[in-house]
Amino acid sequence: SRSDQIYQNLIEECKAQGIADEVQVVKTGCFGFCEQGPIVKILPEDSFYVKVTPEDAKELISEHVIKGREVTRLLYDKESSRKHAKVEDIKFYQKQFRIVLRNCGFIDPENIDEYIAREGYQGLEKALFEMTGEEIIEELKTAGLRGRGGAGFPTWMKWNFSRQVQNDTKYVVCNADEGDPGAYMDRSTCEGDPHSVLEAMTICGKTIGANQGFIYIRAEYPLAIHRLEIAMKQAREYGLLGKNILGSGFDFDIEIRLGAGAFVCGEETALLQSIEGKRGMPQPRPPFPAVKGLWGKPTVINNVETWANVPVILTKGGNWFNKIGTADSKGTKVFALTGKIRNSGLVEVPMGTTLREIIYDIGGGIAHDKKFKAVQTGGPSGGVITAENLDTPIDFGSLIRIGSMMGSGGMIVMDEDDCIVDVAKFYLNFSVDESCGKCAPCRIGGKSLCNILEKITAGNGTLKDLDTLANIGEAMKKGSLCALGQTTPNPVLSSIKHFKEEYLAHIVDKT
Ligand code: SF4
Repeated sequence: SRSDQIYQNLIEECKAQGIADEVQVVKTGCFGFCEQGPIVKILPEDSFYVKVTPEDAKELISEHVIKGREVTRLLYDKESSRKHAKVEDIKFYQKQFRIVLRNCGFIDPENIDEYIAREGYQGLEKALFEMTGEEIIEELKTAGLRGRGGAGFPTWMKWNFSRQVQNDTKYVVCNADEGDPGAYMDRSTCEGDPHSVLEAMTICGKTIGANQGFIYIRAEYPLAIHRLEIAMKQAREYGLLGKNILGSGFDFDIEIRLGAGAFVCGEETALLQSIEGKRGMPQPRPPFPAVKGLWGKPTVINNVETWANVPVILTKGGNWFNKIGTADSKGTKVFALTGKIRNSGLVEVPMGTTLREIIYDIGGGIAHDKKFKAVQTGGPSGGVITAENLDTPIDFGSLIRIGSMMGSGGMIVMDEDDCIVDVAKFYLNFSVDESCGKCAPCRIGGKSLCNILEKITAGNGTLKDLDTLANIGEAMKKGSLCALGQTTPNPVLSSIKHFKEEYLAHIVDKT
């Protein structure tokens, strides 16, 4: 990749200019500001260079590192009056608050010492030597952490269900099967801070009495897999994973399982089936995995973002975490901000931040000075949010009240040129393609919605078709087995609600 080439060139330049012994060139995880990548940060000044090319390496070393003069043309903030443009001066970062992404862009994710230097594994140490399982659950309860995979279920409760079941074998699972179009929060966390996931899973193992964990991750994420593997190896070498962790007598190890790219395997019961080597299909609940999960054993399954919060809660305390966010939703949320936005990237904001702040203050507004039309949150399961709701403080409850959902964190911005019917069709086709076909409402209902939308966009629709879309959608919500089928109609129904005139524009026969 271009970043790899830049990395190599910087090393070569340091050698060529005789400073290889004094300068460290370090790879790090995602800075979040994707729009401006590849990014190079030079320390100790913290100068933030953007859109760097491999050819720029020579100038960065000779001008900045050797002569102490910033290469102004590559600075993000070229107008800055200060000598060095720093991250905290960049508007994209100013309203962000990083808990999950705390180490991304700061540490070398392939070096465990750098994670440890930033309070890494302190939460595990506490869990092993200072806290009982009940106390850990209490800390999570005080924190108010809710699952970040989409459903928002209280994390402490899930852990407690598993903890209370008597069984010699229990499991801990990380859901890294991120599949929403446009979402890459979990990939970046695994690439930029893999130890945070390992530490959290081990803490959970101690809490519920499990000795084995699995990370289920998409095979399409090779760098994340590579970094997780390195992190597991280093953690074992440091006695932080494996037998008798830190001399505590507690054993816990983790294995990676690769997913083959089926979106439905992000649904927890389908994911567990897939780990068991079966076809990934959702199962009826109850029983819930916390009680009867992997191979019938109690299993705590959380997604990457949820896990990444856990070590910080143990280190800083549940009360600290509880003060961040809203009454309904504590902590932060990571969003993958994409679409027609100036600053696309990965953003982490306290719950309660408004959509307007994310889109305009962090995202820099709509690209090419176009007009904002809508934003889709919750990926193919969510809905569109229009301008009148831009000041809604984001949390689990508020997004549902305005007809969308938090989902796992995809946020796609649309401008005045986007056809809402096309967007709804895109999401619908995605969900229909990814349906596992197990139950009729989803299998047949989704296909029927597609056929009607095709008819409408081909100019052959009637007004009655809009009612039929709504009726089928309602039946799918009520009758589908899992969230995929239950939420498949959402993008269509919410876009009809907010942009009926665009559907009508496709309908010639208005009788
Ligand atoms: Fe499969 Fe769809 Fe039924 Fe879920 S709702 S089990 S994805 S057919």
